[in-house]
Amino acid sequence: MLNPLKSLAIALARTKLQSTKMDEETPHPLEEWIQTKVAMEARRSSALRRVIGSPKPGEVDRKALREYQLHRFRHQMLYTGENAPFYQRRWKETGLKPEEIRTFDDLCKVPLTEPSDLAENPFEFLCVSQTKVMRAFSTSGTSGQRKRLFYTRNDVLGVIDPISAALKNVGMRKNDTLQIMFPAIDAWDPGLMLEGACKLAGLNAVKASMIDVDEQLRLMKVNHTTMMIGLTSFIYRLTLLAKEKEDLRSYGIKALILSAEPMPEAMRRELENAWGCKALSQYGMTEMGLATTIECNEKDGLHINEADFLPEVIDPKTGEHVSEGEDGELIWTSLSFEGSPLLRYRSYDISFPIEPPCRCGFRAVGMIGKIKGRMDMQTKVGFGEKVFPLLFDEAVLGVKGVLGYHLTIDKDGYKDRLSFNVEYIGDPNTGKEQVLGAISGLDEIRSGFENDLLAPIEVKVVPPDQKGWVPKTRTIVDNRKQY
Ligand SMILES: [Zn+2]
Repeated sequence: MLNPLKSLAIALARTKLQSTKMDEETPHPLEEWIQTKVAMEARRSSALRRVIGSPKPGEVDRKALREYQLHRFRHQMLYTGENAPFYQRRWKETGLKPEEIRTFDDLCKVPLTEPSDLAENPFEFLCVSQTKVMRAFSTSGTSGQRKRLFYTRNDVLGVIDPISAALKNVGMRKNDTLQIMFPAIDAWDPGLMLEGACKLAGLNAVKASMIDVDEQLRLMKVNHTTMMIGLTSFIYRLTLLAKEKEDLRSYGIKALILSAEPMPEAMRRELENAWGCKALSQYGMTEMGLATTIECNEKDGLHINEADFLPEVIDPKTGEHVSEGEDGELIWTSLSFEGSPLLRYRSYDISFPIEPPCRCGFRAVGMIGKIKGRMDMQTKVGFGEKVFPLLFDEAVLGVKGVLGYHLTIDKDGYKDRLSFNVEYIGDPNTGKEQVLGAISGLDEIRSGFENDLLAPIEVKVVPPDQKGWVPKTRTIVDNRKQY
């Protein structure tokens, strides 16, 4: 695969990137980056200036940031109405005009965009001529259908600039080296964007996509790696296997960034303990350019790049926004993309909104809570208790020595049967006993047994398989038919 960044004039790009202009010692690089973008837009647009004035970076408050987002939302409605056949039709059918979207709650008037809409005809979302497309991305297709997204040169720069600000936010400096550990899985390659972000921002990066633990460790030593980013389950697995062999604290790693899959707290504790540094979560969607949110040192939620993305959390039944702290489905709008911008795009991920300020010092930028799982991975067991994969993650991965697991749910007469296949380092009998104890301790499981709706839980323990690692795109397989 050709590195798309080769076709960029790097020197020119550098002068355009906000993140490279920031002082190394800026206390909150990501919020400063977002504030600067809002301030620049106010300078350009008299319509926005009439609402928020001309704030300097640092003076943008929550209200001004929201106004900026609504302003960009209206812009994207107009832009897609002129250029994307899908949205052209949609605005015509609904008769919705951008000027009708004046408040945050007005957004609920706008119909949601379904992932299947995008999968069926990605070209109906394309807003520029094909010659302006610098890069097309395909999603990994965890929920079945593959989707294609198109990025212009501005889009690519617009993705890597905030990544570089976010890396600075978690403490990355010019003399640090970031090891990028995403095993290359077909067309899905976030490492490429990350490597580009580092290159353009003058930060050091090593792309290490192999799954071999010894090779990863060797590269860390050779390159004096100080930070790591990669698939959560991959870094966790590497950590458990590597710590059997050596003292990982001697590597002097400053931070781990765990990406693309949720990190249970038990896993965070294990990782932080092994490496002697902080482990932070990152969450994004390919449809939104991958890098949308990152945890701060307070670990109380994920900060959102709200200059480029407008998140909403809705009750999928009513379509209304949920209150702060309440669970719902995450909906995303890309506020800056030119290639294939998406408005109110369903993620099917479950989270909850958190309003600023944050204890880390962010004042205007909002957060979302840790992703609890996907709506289509939500499982009902026993008496109809809703169970998210994260619940089993917390329990099973909380057992020392567990690298990963798969859960199959079947019917056994009228009862549900849960079978866990657990990858474990250590004595299999101890592993089995402890995993069983952890699962049985869950309230949801206890109530299932009390009501006689669960068959005895099966746990099979297997030793780690070095070569056979596959990313856990789906931990739970539900074979029951009635739900
Ligand atoms: Zn924070």
